[in-house]
Amino acid sequence: MAQTRGNLFILSAPSGAGKSSLINALLKKHTDMKVSVSHTTRSPRPGEENSVHYHFVSTDEFKALIEKNDFFEWAQVFDNYYGTSKQAIESQLDAGIDVFLDIDWQGAQQVRKIMPSVQTIFILPPSKKELEQRLNNRGQDSADVIAGRMAQAQSETSHYNEYDFVIVNDDFDTALADIEIIVMAQRLTLKAQEDRHQVLLNSLLK
Ligand code: ADP
Repeated sequence: MAQTRGNLFILSAPSGAGKSSLINALLKKHTDMKVSVSHTTRSPRPGEENSVHYHFVSTDEFKALIEKNDFFEWAQVFDNYYGTSKQAIESQLDAGIDVFLDIDWQGAQQVRKIMPSVQTIFILPPSKKELEQRLNNRGQDSADVIAGRMAQAQSETSHYNEYDFVIVNDDFDTALADIEIIVMAQRLTLKAQEDRHQVLLNSLLK
């Protein structure tokens, strides 16, 4: 069977909806799925490892990559740059791996322009109250930061209708299965199956 290229997916969600937990669970189950590691100029936080959480680079290195047109999308957030390298993703897709981009609606808009075949998924929390509860339970943020995230959640969510798929992360295992179904369905499209089963199709049609 011919090696079929992997598919590219974007996952966006308001902070606290459960996107990181879902991605982690997905990658644990499927060795042929990977999340793209972004480049950033910000300093690593305690516990963050280079090339695992981010590729940590200097501002000069980052600007050189912009010059080389090596980013699918990049953004400056306050004093730091963040970006998704094309080269890293293309080599994984070529190896047949399905790649997830964990980016917001602005990044999604940029990637859609460059790669219209990207499949995009928006994850919603089951309610505002539950979102706030999850942010509180996560125990990462102060009350002020949580209030800010709740305000930002509304503006992120207002872009849900730009996405191909929408998942409500109420029951975790159901939401995880929903993502798996989307990924599996992409492996069965006409184009993917034609690439994969050329020999079979030729023999059946002879
Ligand atoms: P995000 O990456 O979207 O900011 P996280 O993955 O950090 O969100 O999840 C926020 C919190 O909600 C975490 O404590 C996580 O364990 C919890 N969580 C995620 N999904 C669910 C779910 N379906 N039901 C209950 N709690 C959840």
